[in-house]
Amino acid sequence: MNNWEKNIRRVVPYTPGEQPNQQDMIKLNTNENPYPPAPGVAEALKNIETDALRLYPDPAAKDLVHAIAGEYGLSDEQVFVGVGSDDVLAMSFLTFFNSEKPILFPDITYSFYDVWADLFQIPYERPELDEHFHIKKEDYFRENGGIIFPNPNAPTGVSLPLDEIEEIISHNRDVIVIVDEAYVDFGTESALPLIDKYENLLVVQTFSKSRSMAGMRIGFAMGSPKLIAYLNDVKYSFNSYTMNRTSIAAGVAAIKDQAYFHETCDKIIETREWTKQELKSLGFSFEDSKANFIFASHANCPAKQLFQALREQHIYVRYFPGGRTDNHLRITIGTRKEMQTFLDFVKEYFKKENLWKF
Ligand SMILES: *Cc1c(COP(=O)(O)O)cnc(C)c1O
Repeated sequence: MNNWEKNIRRVVPYTPGEQPNQQDMIKLNTNENPYPPAPGVAEALKNIETDALRLYPDPAAKDLVHAIAGEYGLSDEQVFVGVGSDDVLAMSFLTFFNSEKPILFPDITYSFYDVWADLFQIPYERPELDEHFHIKKEDYFRENGGIIFPNPNAPTGVSLPLDEIEEIISHNRDVIVIVDEAYVDFGTESALPLIDKYENLLVVQTFSKSRSMAGMRIGFAMGSPKLIAYLNDVKYSFNSYTMNRTSIAAGVAAIKDQAYFHETCDKIIETREWTKQELKSLGFSFEDSKANFIFASHANCPAKQLFQALREQHIYVRYFPGGRTDNHLRITIGTRKEMQTFLDFVKEYFKKENLWKF
């Protein structure tokens, strides 16, 4: 090793899902929304004045903060925005997890948490989900330096009832508890009503999944004005102009169209429930997902084998090799037509390989 390499911050980076780009592909691998953003977003983008791009954007992204606060019945001081919830979560790790005691998150969860913890040199422990991939709340009742988990969890799709979340928070009044609600709009009760009761609770959401805007990069956190102020102090010490003019305008337009938002979420929920029935009849097993994906395994067909067979057909799902997730595929819910194509292929494949009796 060269001397100059000795003081380098070495990290093993997060591996994002692949972003293939084929005309005929069916992309069910990164939990994107199959529907376009609200029509108002296209209008807002058309109205962007190119000349205004000379100027820095509003560092506080007030218009977007105000629109989100209005929608969720909060004051502007209770909302923080960032470049996707990944940015919001990274800033939150940096701001809130500075104890010498380990932070806690599940053994199977969003695979960015341990990456940020390593990056920021935060100690952590990972309590195991039970055999049905459920969080055991008691695991979070011990001393720790902070807690984070997604609800519903990823990549399992399993959600934790609000009363159990409240139990976790009430056992942890001396640390920050972050609930990552990336998929909450697909049918899970949000912890948002608890932020008035618990000053140490941060609820993080994103425009990437339920609002069809993964490409625009908008995430937000909601919490007590104190927590939000601490987050802003760190953000302004890192990069003041996180939100560009385009994403502020597009974000405001998206949040204003609640009717479209509910309509598309409902369609995805309906397709998810139908897909569950179809997967069952093909012999798959899975826990009851409340997200826009299903985390499924099959007794007769190794996940890796099916993943590769699908891939050759340009049907992309996500596979997490190794450990307890090794025999599962995470299948994003697309349109009904995309799911039909996916299911038809699986059925034909099982027939051809003699993996399932029809
Ligand atoms: C997708 C996802 C995020 C990050 O999404 P952004 O696109 O950065 O907003 C955060 N947490 C979980 C659990 C996710 O699945």
